[in-house]
Amino acid sequence: MPNTRRSEQLFERAQRILPGGVNSPVRAFRAVGGTPRFVARGKGSHIWDVDGNEYVDYIGSWGPLVLGHAVPEVLDAISDAAQRGTTFGIATELEVELAEIVSAAMPSMEMLRFVASGTEATMSAIRVARAATGRDLILKFEGCYHGHADGLLVQAGSGAAAQSTPDSAGVPAAYASQTLVAPYNDLAAVERLFGAYRRSIAVVIVEPIAANMGLVTPQPGFLEGLRRITTANGALLIFDEVITGFRVAYGGAQALFSVTPDLTCLGKVVVGGLPGGAYGGRRELMELVAPLGPVYQAGTLAGNPLAMAAGLATLGLLQKPGTYERLAQSGEYLAQGLWQVAQELETPIAVPQLGSLLTVFFRDGAPWSYRDAITADRQRYAAFFHGLLERGVYFPPSPFEVAFCSLAHTKEDLDATIEAARGALAAFRS
Ligand SMILES: *Cc1c(COP(=O)(O)O)cnc(C)c1O
Repeated sequence: MPNTRRSEQLFERAQRILPGGVNSPVRAFRAVGGTPRFVARGKGSHIWDVDGNEYVDYIGSWGPLVLGHAVPEVLDAISDAAQRGTTFGIATELEVELAEIVSAAMPSMEMLRFVASGTEATMSAIRVARAATGRDLILKFEGCYHGHADGLLVQAGSGAAAQSTPDSAGVPAAYASQTLVAPYNDLAAVERLFGAYRRSIAVVIVEPIAANMGLVTPQPGFLEGLRRITTANGALLIFDEVITGFRVAYGGAQALFSVTPDLTCLGKVVVGGLPGGAYGGRRELMELVAPLGPVYQAGTLAGNPLAMAAGLATLGLLQKPGTYERLAQSGEYLAQGLWQVAQELETPIAVPQLGSLLTVFFRDGAPWSYRDAITADRQRYAAFFHGLLERGVYFPPSPFEVAFCSLAHTKEDLDATIEAARGALAAFRS
């Protein structure tokens, strides 16, 4: 067993001053038990905790670090920008440059606005959609995460009524009632809701590849169907590409599937590991945003020069030929290897994978919806997670999150991970 004394001490201290000892809930290991490791540093595909234990990292800060940790080009860009001042609250050239590059990568984003997080991006895009359509209702999918704005922390109500309920304390029922919820990959449910709420639905927001209930990929025709139904009903379509943007393809899921949303939300990769995000879309929609139009939205640190510099450096490196092929090769190799080992040990798992994203579900068959996903065996996942951790592999501390490969992951890393999985699976089988 690795020594974790210092992490334990820090966790004690942290719990006295930070709720649950953390600044974002999944970090607290509640889904898998045990003491969360406190990280000291990262380099490439590896991280080291405060007790000196080394891990192959599959968190990648939950998505931003598609290049790996502490990449020299990104650090230089951040440091250069920092030397000139960390924030101004006055327009800078870097914001224009990054906006042009993002728009060129995703032509549906004719205009965009940088914000300080993915949460702000989705919240603001929805405000624009409501203003543009003059309607209030939004439609989201069960198991999709779009940040923690009130109207998006909503789950499907029980029973036949299409009544939604808050998914968090502190969200007024009146807010939840403005959000409709459908199962992922279920176009018939979307049609039914549009039938019931004809001219009241402003917008459908979706993760074009769902990566917050574990990985759940869209079935053929699902995204096309959303495009068709929204257009037919005068509603807008938002792709929340906070994870998928610059991750599954340079042009995001919209390039991969050739489906064009009205508005797109970005975060994570686009700002290269610094806090930030963006939303954008057709020019006439974005011209509704202040100061051009009546939709108010602002931010003290929006378009922060360090974040812009990190984004520019990251996207620059991602433009190199072969990037996305390499990411997909790593994802495929790992998913195949994990599945193979589980087969050999007669442990039923499914490992859905798309590009550098994958999830190990302890169930038969890849899930297509949240209801499917939550049937995965949580105890087994927790044992698997701790087995990997003891063997120097840091997988998501929750059965319903994705593991992220980066360009820094080597074949040796992936092989070591597969061998660690063999050890972990063999241990809890006996
Ligand atoms: C992470 C995430 C968000 C929220 O972004 P934050 O920067 O954490 O606020 C929104 N949507 C999706 C799909 C995400 O994965």
